[in-house]
Amino acid sequence: MKKVAIYPGSFDPITNGHVDIIERGVEIFDELIVAVAHNPQKANLFSEKERVDMIRQIFKGRKNIEVDSFSCLLVDYVARRQAKVIMKGLRFVSDFEYEFQMALTNRRMNSQIETLFMMASEPYSYLSSGLVKEIASLEGSVSGMVPKLVEKRLREKLQKKGKGKKDAVS
Ligand code: ADP
Repeated sequence: MKKVAIYPGSFDPITNGHVDIIERGVEIFDELIVAVAHNPQKANLFSEKERVDMIRQIFKGRKNIEVDSFSCLLVDYVARRQAKVIMKGLRFVSDFEYEFQMALTNRRMNSQIETLFMMASEPYSYLSSGLVKEIASLEGSVSGMVPKLVEKRLREKLQKKGKGKKDAVS
């Protein structure tokens, strides 16, 4: 049977830290599904479609990497996709507490599903989508932190947002 893992997250936007986890994950599993969480409560910079499209473009032509989105309970999505593993990245001790709680809660809801943690690679261990957005919004360079396509999309998005603000003032 094919070994399928799900890598869930907000990916708002995808960073080189996420890319690294994906590249390492496909070495272990036959197929990796990058699952973008649809969470209307969270104020995301990029829409769900924009986040999915960016990841699809980055991994275009990679047969064992699929990009999808989900809006139900993660364990229900994992079961529907006939996967048994949730893959997550761990950066700092601060990630651990939340992830530990989530992993145990998910196991309680579906004991057939295992959560697997992968340590962040050293150069990306401090990197988060939030940090990237903060730097970009202050017009700093995020080169090397995100794929080139994301750099471009961030510039376009923030220009558009800035213009919207100016229009609202004038
Ligand atoms: P965030 O907004 O915290 O950057 P996401 O919800 O998009 O993250 O993260 C999805 C998953 O990827 C989580 O398991 C998270 O711990 C992991 N992750 C995020 N950034 C990195 C990184 N730089 N290195 C390794 N794993 C990461």
